[in-house]
Amino acid sequence: MTERFTGNFTQQEPIPEAGIEAALDVLRHGRLHRYNVAEGETAQTALLEQEFAALMGSKYALAVASGGYAIATALRAVGVGPGDRVLTNAFTLAPVPGAIASVGAVPVFVDVTEALTIDLDHLAQIVVEKNAPRVLLLSHMRGHICDMDRLMAITDAAGVTVIEDCAHTMGARWNGVLSGRHGAMAAYSTQTYKHVNSGEGGLLISDDPDLMARAIILSGSYMLYERHLAGPPPEAFEKVKYITPNISGRMDNLRAAILRPQLAGLDDQCSAWNARYRVVEAGLRDTPGLTVIERPAEESYVMSSFQFLLLDWTEREVQEVVRRCADRGVELKWFGGAEPAGFTSRYDSWRYADAPKMPKTDRVLCGILDLRLPLTFSHEDCAQIARIIRDVVSRVYQRAG
Ligand SMILES: *Cc1c(COP(=O)(O)O)cnc(C)c1O
Repeated sequence: MTERFTGNFTQQEPIPEAGIEAALDVLRHGRLHRYNVAEGETAQTALLEQEFAALMGSKYALAVASGGYAIATALRAVGVGPGDRVLTNAFTLAPVPGAIASVGAVPVFVDVTEALTIDLDHLAQIVVEKNAPRVLLLSHMRGHICDMDRLMAITDAAGVTVIEDCAHTMGARWNGVLSGRHGAMAAYSTQTYKHVNSGEGGLLISDDPDLMARAIILSGSYMLYERHLAGPPPEAFEKVKYITPNISGRMDNLRAAILRPQLAGLDDQCSAWNARYRVVEAGLRDTPGLTVIERPAEESYVMSSFQFLLLDWTEREVQEVVRRCADRGVELKWFGGAEPAGFTSRYDSWRYADAPKMPKTDRVLCGILDLRLPLTFSHEDCAQIARIIRDVVSRVYQRAG
């Protein structure tokens, strides 16, 4: 009998009761705007920022409307403007080059390795070129973290500023250091499919008072920046307040209220995701033709999704695997498709960027298959998903010979 999986790959867990309670409080008093506070009250958004900074060990934190907005704000804060070129990963999601385009800048893509991380040899080569870009927007795509020590050595030596896109690495670490604590600024998303869920939302952290003062004013602080509990001192704002535009993208108190209890439970959620990831990993290991992504010892990942490679398979065979898995209830996303579909897309589908062909990256992208592992899946669900993929991949591989 062929097994069929019946779970839903896009069903997240409910919001914790404490978040629902806190949200109802905000709805009942009606002060949803972050700067709308009663006498003696501290806004939920300000508290969220304070708690997030404490969790990340950063000096400053800012809550905003989305992850993409957080990235764009970081780019503006470090001084990226129209016509500038910004380095970023060729393997990432559309909001990353999109944030670069939103400030009028142009993405310059860096190759991806078979470990699904940025190719540091390619990066090292680009940053010493004449007129090389001065900023790297580093995307820890799908939770895969590159050798951050080597990356920072390369960028520091070249005077390149690093902004980290931690949409998939909230709570993860490299060599004991939290993801987001290497670069000048780091952006997180609190959108439904990330590690905490407020529907939409973003967070930005930094230790640099000047960068964070700019980011807070950019986010639309109406000069009420003294109401931030995780912001730099007033002197930092004095330097930039007249020359920094207000590009509104604040977070509201309702979303902050939902997020605070989730941050408190983040560690447990991360362990729960990783346990599911390891079940799938164990189930897929040693499948002929299938490459499991080996994780370096320095990396403490948080995996709310799973990727594997069908390297050097033909398009037809990969498509057959995707189709047969779908027939058995397992939704795989393929990064090799010519048309962007279901949250995948590739560097050459962002045609506004006008990127040259990247053969090394193409080879890897054509082999990447991706699935979500929401916490609503049990360990048995994950084992079954792995069995189905293993069965389908083995059959297609055998037939292809
Ligand atoms: C989701 C995501 C973002 C942006 O987050 P939004 O909150 O949806 O704007 C940025 N980078 C990556 C890699 C993402 O997956």
